Amino acid sequence: MLIGIIGAGTMGSGIAQTFAINNHQVILNDLEEGSLDRAIKAVTKSLDRLISKEKITEEVKASTLANISTSTDINNFKDVDIVIEAVAENMEIKKSLFTQLDNICKKETIIATNTSSLSITEIASVTKRPGKIIGMHFFNPVPVMKLVEIIKGLATDTETVKTIKDVAREIGKEAVEVNEMPGFVVNRVLIPMINEAIGILADDVASAEDIDNAMKLGANHPIGPLALADLIGNDVNLAIMETLFEEFGDPKYRPHPLLKKYVKAGLLGRKSGRGFYDYTKKAS
Ligand code: NAD
Repeated sequence: MLIGIIGAGTMGSGIAQTFAINNHQVILNDLEEGSLDRAIKAVTKSLDRLISKEKITEEVKASTLANISTSTDINNFKDVDIVIEAVAENMEIKKSLFTQLDNICKKETIIATNTSSLSITEIASVTKRPGKIIGMHFFNPVPVMKLVEIIKGLATDTETVKTIKDVAREIGKEAVEVNEMPGFVVNRVLIPMINEAIGILADDVASAEDIDNAMKLGANHPIGPLALADLIGNDVNLAIMETLFEEFGDPKYRPHPLLKKYVKAGLLGRKSGRGFYDYTKKAS
């Protein structure tokens, strides 16, 4: 199958790697050449790590990289069978992209979004193929995390759900089916927890390290909430909290002012080198 992935950031590069290692041809698209170069470097580094752990061979690395082509021209998507959109978590950007994709892609192409919280129904409304629009929500880091949430918008048809479920299984993921609701399942639980941990830090209850250790040792979480915030990206965390807050209108989803301050300061986490931790000094 020919897969088109749009947005070559944290998620797009991981999604490209996952499809490519499972023998799919991938066209990875971004507005910027620089993002595409970084994505290929990230995939190469990830594959090298798998080689050093003896999980894959040099041949698999070579074939995976050969399965990925890069492009800044969205018109190259005219022959793709499935599109997965992984650009910024912003409804206007996604709507404008889906309008374009709807005009470019063949009519049987399924266009999936990796949105963390936005309405699939609203994104689908700008297209002439709402039955073929679906959420395919991967988790970070994509090559490692087993789950894909398959999100049905109001108009998503059963055949589209079945195809995407089968594809998810075929690339080694476990799918759960979700009816659209802000935050779906995982982020409705996870992101408010991260927001609360940021509140605890702001209240000076404990240091970032101690908050993370408390949740690792006391709640058996494999990673602390602030380290996870940095892994996800604070801009993404904020966008999800804002969606939950706006859609439910419930003050329990208010984004914490300290989260907003971090985003304003550009302290986005691992991708910017600093968030709640400093990755310019830390090796891991
Ligand atoms: P990111 O900022 O790392 O990457 C986004 C990429 O999209 C950038 O390279 C940017 O240049 C590119 N882009 C923006 N507009 C574009 C356009 N019109 N055409 C082509 N490329 C464009 O973001 P990310 O963390 O990879 O998140 C992408 C999506 O995945 C968001 O919807 C986010 O909510 C979702 N998501 C993120 C995570 C996570 O942990 N980061 C997890 C699950 C889902």
